[in-house]
Amino acid sequence: MEVNMDMIHHLFNKHYTSEQDCMDALVAAKWPTGFVCPRCAYTGCSHLTSRHIPLFQCENCGHQTSPLVGTLFEGTHLPLLKWFQAIELFLLPDGISAMRLHQEIRVTYKTAWLMLHKIRHAVSEFDARERLSGDVKVNCDRYGTNPSRCQHPNPFATAVVTGCTVTESGDLDQIKIHLLLHKRGTGNRATRHELAAFINEHVDVETSTIHAFPLAYKLYSPLRKVVRDAWRSLTSTYLALGPKYLQAYLNEYTVRRRLQLPGSTKAMRQQLLAMCVATPAISYCQLIARQPKHPFAIAA
Ligand SMILES: [Zn+2]
Repeated sequence: MEVNMDMIHHLFNKHYTSEQDCMDALVAAKWPTGFVCPRCAYTGCSHLTSRHIPLFQCENCGHQTSPLVGTLFEGTHLPLLKWFQAIELFLLPDGISAMRLHQEIRVTYKTAWLMLHKIRHAVSEFDARERLSGDVKVNCDRYGTNPSRCQHPNPFATAVVTGCTVTESGDLDQIKIHLLLHKRGTGNRATRHELAAFINEHVDVETSTIHAFPLAYKLYSPLRKVVRDAWRSLTSTYLALGPKYLQAYLNEYTVRRRLQLPGSTKAMRQQLLAMCVATPAISYCQLIARQPKHPFAIAA
């Protein structure tokens, strides 16, 4: 999807014009009800303002902490303004590629790639903690099948187990798309065992009514449509995606889709910032060392 970048920059500049603006937003996201000492939970503090990064000192135990500690931004050498611009652009309807981000916010391609993967990491960590609960539907579907070319099997299509919650008005709310990478290109779908493993991992069974759709010709169609939309969206922005990070990109898609739903009480950027603030930083080495998880292959 083509977007008007001038408008995006204009919107961004309306909210954040300085490092101080970004720091204030970060502090508000980290301590929404005011400072809480990470060591003793005391709420009184004094500010040490002589440093580039503000320090808070607990008035009870003397512990000093920076708002960046324990967040995705800890140890960053980049201005927070660049990070906040990346967050804004990450929330575009179809996201943003590292190449485009590199051009838009004037950082190196490698830095842009790393920033996006770090934000994706925060999104995935957040998503992993939020299990499906309520009226839950689960499909055994395939990801990567071009709907307009159904007759041509795609060698990169991958079996997925997908789940969603459905609101009382019948809309899909929270969605999870779980790749079964060991079935990539095989044409096979998830087994009943893999479907059960998905439910065990991603659904709060105590608080949910679960309808499972294991048969290819009888899937829950609104959820099937989301999987196809995800494929279209990711392909339009990132072209070809290898298996290594595909799960992270799918998590990005489903979380962003949910953030974009109408009726949310908080702005999208605030919610995404809260995820980044709640997630400890991950290094480049940790990121590239990550292997796709095959939990069901082991369980099967
Ligand atoms: Zn303290």
